[in-house]
Amino acid sequence: MDESQIRLLLVDDEAIILTLFKSALQAWGYTVDIAEDGKKALQLCNENNYHIMITDLNMPNMDGMALLKRVKSRWPMMEVIVVTGYGTIETAIEAMKMGASDFILKPVNFEQVQFTIKKCYQKIKAESENQELREINAQLRSVNEMKDKFLAITNHEIRTPLTIIKGYLEILEMIMESDDPEIAETIEIIRRTTLDLNSTVERMHALSRANQITWQGRKESVDLKEFLIKIREDMSGLFKHRNITLTVQTPEKQQFVMGTTPSIRIILQELLQNALKFTPDEGKVIVSVKEKDEHFVISVQDTGIGIPYEKQDLIFSDFYEVQDTINHKTSKAEFMGGGMGIGLSLVKEVVTSLRGQIELESEPNVGSTFKVYLQKATLPEMQD
Ligand code: ADP
Repeated sequence: MDESQIRLLLVDDEAIILTLFKSALQAWGYTVDIAEDGKKALQLCNENNYHIMITDLNMPNMDGMALLKRVKSRWPMMEVIVVTGYGTIETAIEAMKMGASDFILKPVNFEQVQFTIKKCYQKIKAESENQELREINAQLRSVNEMKDKFLAITNHEIRTPLTIIKGYLEILEMIMESDDPEIAETIEIIRRTTLDLNSTVERMHALSRANQITWQGRKESVDLKEFLIKIREDMSGLFKHRNITLTVQTPEKQQFVMGTTPSIRIILQELLQNALKFTPDEGKVIVSVKEKDEHFVISVQDTGIGIPYEKQDLIFSDFYEVQDTINHKTSKAEFMGGGMGIGLSLVKEVVTSLRGQIELESEPNVGSTFKVYLQKATLPEMQD
């Protein structure tokens, strides 16, 4: 809110004071109305929105105190400054107790008046900013609730029919005895598409709150070496297809971290899937593990397109994608293949639930390295 938007109401029974005050306040750029008594002041307050009221305390009929009381009970946000003589300073203090923001002593010093108004303006501004923040917060909360609802609906409405389709497809494959290659190809396409859709829905389900319990569930010691061997087996075909060299540096001995099998799998899968998607053909991807104090650090390094510096914090947010979704390729294994912007938020959530950390080092057009710090499993936990 700008200071020039401040609207003031001046209340005094002495016409000469009102005129003097009004011209000074207008010269400072404020919009000013005047009232010669409390009754007129209340009428004007009903008709207009004032930010500040400056009122004399000593007035016939309704005095400044009575006016203050009524104004504060009807318009509690209005700042009220009372004007009083030296002899009545106790009354001024009394007025402050009743909600007045400040008081000005007679004879009026205009510099002091300006200072007092500026103080009130700062208060009004802070309050209006707070109000704005409260509104933004409420909006964010409702967007978040919408997201949760959306994910919950996806879980119920899409996951169940998808499971049924998958099941019946398997049965169909078993009972089909046709040699017709066209039918076999058709079923294969339905199978692959169903699996893709299934994987998307499963990732969304994993991101939804409903599944946090699984991530935070009982942790056990998980061997990284075993995992890395398995993931290399599972994913090397996809990398080969794009002529990307996938090097998985498996450690010589077993390296146990605290986690759960699904959580470690999802971390590696999502990071490798991204490395594949955002590295052009003929590039390189290296997965390695290093020991650092209480952690094992898994690095997934690629020679891909990198991430702009100003976007590096944002990519861990739900549904965030750097590139325009319009440029998506349909396949998830192709360069710049499609996604939903949930992979990294999922990884971050899982890593946090394991009390680990994720770091990113990335340079546009050079490549990215994601480092995941996972707590080493200590001996008693392993025996547990
Ligand atoms: P998606 O599920 O769409 O891949 P993610 O949450 O996994 O979404 O990633 C968010 C965005 O971060 C991606 O859309 C991409 O722009 C960027 N990104 C993630 N990993 C990499 C990477 N290895 N190289 C370059 N950009 C990446």
